Amino acid sequence: MENFLEVIVIGGGPSGSFCALNIAEKGVNVIVFEEHDEIGFPCHCAGHLSIKGLESLGFYPPQENFLENLFYGVRIYSPKGSSFSVRFPSPVTCAVNRALFDKHLSQLAEKAGARYLLGVRVERLIHRKEFVEVIASKRTGETSRFFGKLVVDAEGVACKILRQMGLTPPKTMVYCVNAEVENVRDIEPDRVEVFLGNMYAPGFYAWLIPKKDGTAKVGLGTRVGNPRTLLKRFMKKHPAASLKLGRAKILRENFHSIPLSGPIKKAYADGFIAVGDAASQVKPTTGGGVILGLNCARMAAKVVVKAVESEDFSAKILSTYQKDFMKFLGFDVWVMREARRILSLMSDNHLNNFIDFCGKTFAEDSFQGLEEIDFQGRTLLKALKKPKSTLVIAYFMTLIFRSAFKM
Ligand SMILES: Cc1cc2nc3c(=O)[nH]c(=O)nc-3n(C[C@H](O)[C@H](O)[C@H](O)COP(=O)(O)OP(=O)(O)OC[C@H]3O[C@@H](n4cnc5c(N)ncnc54)[C@H](O)[C@@H]3O)c2cc1C
Repeated sequence: MENFLEVIVIGGGPSGSFCALNIAEKGVNVIVFEEHDEIGFPCHCAGHLSIKGLESLGFYPPQENFLENLFYGVRIYSPKGSSFSVRFPSPVTCAVNRALFDKHLSQLAEKAGARYLLGVRVERLIHRKEFVEVIASKRTGETSRFFGKLVVDAEGVACKILRQMGLTPPKTMVYCVNAEVENVRDIEPDRVEVFLGNMYAPGFYAWLIPKKDGTAKVGLGTRVGNPRTLLKRFMKKHPAASLKLGRAKILRENFHSIPLSGPIKKAYADGFIAVGDAASQVKPTTGGGVILGLNCARMAAKVVVKAVESEDFSAKILSTYQKDFMKFLGFDVWVMREARRILSLMSDNHLNNFIDFCGKTFAEDSFQGLEEIDFQGRTLLKALKKPKSTLVIAYFMTLIFRSAFKM
């Protein structure tokens, strides 16, 4: 049967391509279905990634030209415009061009033997006894059937296929916009900026990521309201951001959601495994999902290859994937989910007080040794060993307690 395949991956984003690459490298027949005609487009992501995370996955220093800038730290602004800053002696994060990054991953996967079907959307999966039937369509409306022993769902946050498989998608989402802007003033070219405040980014935050060419990526996430309207308000009215962005021109903007509730409870079923945003493998604090998604995609590939080798595609075999990734990031995600819940409870007044307190307590270089930004539970444990950090955490907890009880 021509359309009979071993492993079918839905989605040519970073998680899908990296999973396909790791599967193909083991000599397993794998095909990626991507609904868009070109990998990497449309691009909705700010592409702010940790260098350590990229290094651990073998993508840093980069072999391809996807790097846009390097950052030595962050400046965090309160709703009223005060700030505190963190700086490390060497770069800790970078901005990548997500379209080029995604393309690079897909090229590596193709080189390893994975095939891509572009412009083909997976509409439905039907789980048969021995295989999974995949119904896919082209833009022309032409429908085809494919048959796979196993499907990897890397469809991203939409989770349509995940729902069809009877699995529960993430509960909490933020609606985001990421814009490319020019004519930005007074920015620090080697530092990312983060802006807190319920007037501008209710329940999340806004970001400013400078690029080397003088343009920047600006965006925000929100639990309520229209991200486009909020972005305009943020650029024009935020006391600190408006000085930098008040006259900036938006060149492009893209809208998309981020799942924030941490990995779903069950990311597998008979003949089916979900990775990346589809499984909500995203940091609940920052919404960053690329590095976690890639790590989990690699773990998924390992289990997929094992299933192919043993000809056993049962949920029981595939459940080791869930155990593996929860062991790897369960504690960190728990810490980040709690931190996000607490941050969402804070009023603008509390955020102002908190940032002011941090500004008074810390010097820029107080955070040496706390460069880890992907696994923030581990960073918290390290921070607890530093007296000043403990003080700030205690202050943070007091504010929360007061917020929770409206004191
Ligand atoms: C505004 C914004 C800014 C962000 N900034 C950052 C950041 O700075 N750093 C960071 O780490 N993360 C960031 N993220 C999160 C990051 O974009 C995601 O975590 C990451 O893209 C997840 O990768 P993925 O491969 O799981 O899914 P995606 O990148 O969403 O890829 C899914 C792919 O599947 C395809 N697809 C979907 N359904 C089908 C179907 N039925 N058939 C065929 N193809 C299908 C889609 O076209 C897409 O190409 C941001 C997200 C947003 C919205």
